[in-house]
Amino acid sequence: MAKRYFPNEVEGKWQKRWKEDKLFSPDLDKSEKPFYSLMMFPYPSAEGMHVGNMYAFTGSDIYSRFKRLQGLDVFEPIGLDGFGIHGENYALKINEHPMEVSRRTEKHFYEQFMTVGNAYDWNRTLNTYEPEYYKWTQWAFLQLYKKGIAYRKKAEVNWCPSCKTVLADEQVITGACERCSSQVEKKDLEQWFFKITDYAERLLKNLEWIDWSEKIKVAQRNWIGKSEGTLIAFDSLDVFTTRADTIFGATFVAVSPEHPLLSKLVTDEQKGDVSAYIEAAGKKSELERKENKEKTGVFTGTNVKNPFTGESIPVWVADYVLMGYGTGVIMAVPAHDERDFEFAKKFDLPIKTVIENTSPVIANGVKQSQNNKEGIASSPSTTLRISRNDKTNVYTGEGILVNSGEFDGLSSTEAREKISDYIEKHNLGKRQVHFHLRDWLISRQRYWGPPIPIIYCDKCGAVPVPESDLPVKLPFIENFRPTGTGISPLASEPDFVNVKCPKCAGPAKRETDVSDNFLDSSLYFFRYLTTDLNDRFFDEKRAKNWLPVDMYIGGAEHSVLHLLYSRFITMVFRDLGFIDFEEPFKKFRAHGLIIAEGAKMSKSKGNVINPDNLIKEWGADTLRMYLMFMGPFTEGGDFRAASISGVYRFLSRVWELAQNEHADEATEGELKILNKVIKKVGEDMENLRFNTAIASLMEFLNFLSKQGRVSRGTIKAFLVMLTPFAPHTTEELWEMMGENRSIHLQTWPKYEEKYLEEEEVTIAVQVNGKVRDQLVIHKDMASDGKVIEKIALGSPKVQKFLDGKEIKKAVYVPVKIINFVTE
Ligand SMILES: [Zn+2]
Ligand SMILES: [Zn+2]
Repeated sequence: MAKRYFPNEVEGKWQKRWKEDKLFSPDLDKSEKPFYSLMMFPYPSAEGMHVGNMYAFTGSDIYSRFKRLQGLDVFEPIGLDGFGIHGENYALKINEHPMEVSRRTEKHFYEQFMTVGNAYDWNRTLNTYEPEYYKWTQWAFLQLYKKGIAYRKKAEVNWCPSCKTVLADEQVITGACERCSSQVEKKDLEQWFFKITDYAERLLKNLEWIDWSEKIKVAQRNWIGKSEGTLIAFDSLDVFTTRADTIFGATFVAVSPEHPLLSKLVTDEQKGDVSAYIEAAGKKSELERKENKEKTGVFTGTNVKNPFTGESIPVWVADYVLMGYGTGVIMAVPAHDERDFEFAKKFDLPIKTVIENTSPVIANGVKQSQNNKEGIASSPSTTLRISRNDKTNVYTGEGILVNSGEFDGLSSTEAREKISDYIEKHNLGKRQVHFHLRDWLISRQRYWGPPIPIIYCDKCGAVPVPESDLPVKLPFIENFRPTGTGISPLASEPDFVNVKCPKCAGPAKRETDVSDNFLDSSLYFFRYLTTDLNDRFFDEKRAKNWLPVDMYIGGAEHSVLHLLYSRFITMVFRDLGFIDFEEPFKKFRAHGLIIAEGAKMSKSKGNVINPDNLIKEWGADTLRMYLMFMGPFTEGGDFRAASISGVYRFLSRVWELAQNEHADEATEGELKILNKVIKKVGEDMENLRFNTAIASLMEFLNFLSKQGRVSRGTIKAFLVMLTPFAPHTTEELWEMMGENRSIHLQTWPKYEEKYLEEEEVTIAVQVNGKVRDQLVIHKDMASDGKVIEKIALGSPKVQKFLDGKEIKKAVYVPVKIINFVTE
């Protein structure tokens, strides 16, 4: 009698055995077909993984298992990104030490990964808060320091008043802290930075060829924000513009309130107003200033000369001009820039049109070119000359120059070149490239991170900790609370702070800030390969063999954080000669996000689904399959608890079918369908279309169930295709069928072309070269032109077009087209 399907009995047994047999631990030194399949390691939250996290990790595991079945030596590691503000904030909230919280969450996370059955290499886990790991974070800092990429300077930085630390630009999301959503403030502090801006061009350029999800590339491109423009001197003020073609329309200049030259520009008369304005602007966030609907500003009392029109134009201070963009001074062209336009309207400044819109416009429903160069309206009744360059509208597009002296009639593109040439020739400025990207701020005035390995000596200055002294261990301190003074809590530990200078052996003090946890995560994929080697970060042979990562899967929310930083660090390592490639991830795909019962999952709504209970109730295989069945993996889906039972029933039917008596030989019909399924599922797996792969397997099961006795070969192929989704169930059935080598070591079935051939072919029927009908006939009939002619002539559609005319010729292109010629 067939055994009944009890997933819980089966799953624990196999998880234990796989781990003992090291089934998923490739020999990193000997693998011949290495394939590095990586999923972004998680930050271990105290609640453990919810079903949304499980979704992402399982999808990555399914792909890895598919690659293993294709005969590759797959390395699929897992670790925890436990250092950082997030974990520390939680520890503060529950008033427990982060070191203790980590021990607890670590255990829970690894258990969850185990029970869901992911094929991780359990011998190579890593946790960023272990000294064995962060020794290398500190080592990396020192390498960047030696190369001159890590530097210290006093700067106005983003300060989160709630997290009581500075933040990198990338961690400020529309003006708020990425971790806690508090409004970010500005503070002047002496900080460590990484010169990521030196790499802006390379980071941008490689986006052209790396095989990554398009939305990530777009986000990085925008963040790096390259703008090519021209630097132009308006007397003593340098402005940067990407629209030099509009210079004849520049009717005033606007200066950022933070501009260092501002005080020199302001006349005595205007001093009071300007000072008050600067003070008010200082209280606004950058976001407020960018979004400001109501433009504000004050005249400085000074005029400068527009170098092209020769006109004297006023200089205003306006807070919509940010110091961070360009030079902090803009030439304002109200006719062709929205913000300048609003400003000019409010303060009654001149608006001068210098670009004519030449794109076709719809007038009276007729598409026309607005600039009718010949000056002749082709059809006066329908042509409307609409002046879109009037005083109530702003035109920000490109077009043809007008009111621009010798440059009149040029297109915007041509004019930018000619005007820039003129500027360079007459020493009025030069072409320039600006980036939005800023240097990466590394210092954090917090406790829970790797101490920055620098020692300050009165005599020698900043001295790097010698590599042999690494790691600089994070001491266990009772009071780890952030101070809010701009100084890390580590500063209150005299034993930690007071050291001997490594250079002169005199008294010195340690740096007390820790580094950004995004530095930890830009190294981890390198370190997985060497968790067993404590004397080096890289092992040359392993790095050569296994890197770059073949497939990386993760969340799109890391577009301009982790995914950008990792690329940068990899480029630096290449420049340092450690590796010979500069892009860390050959392929990156962002996974989708899931919602539950039609709503976004959130703690406050109380609808966060815990996978642990679902696994107890249904088994991990059912959960895995259900998650992947919800929708395309790259798009996500809606979790409906009521739908899980359908997947459970499917697996129960597979369970029965595999135990039925099998036929020795497959029928022709069985082979035909099997081969089609192999092809379809294989292609779906490669493209992460797990949902349609599952649908094909389900249909296939329906077919096999109706077959009666199914051949053993077909059942085996079916189980192998199912095993990435349901690794435990299929492994158990495999064993029950008397197979003695794990199903996970089998090979993905190959399809045979001959079974894929269609029985029917489609032939187009033309009359005088125009297609009038399609014939669908058995392929055996398609070779005989006379037969085809006869069938085609029987078609009513064809008859209609022949209309009793004499057929002069019938030309048959075998299995493609038959053409009747009547004229
Ligand atoms: Zn914060
Ligand atoms: Zn010294």
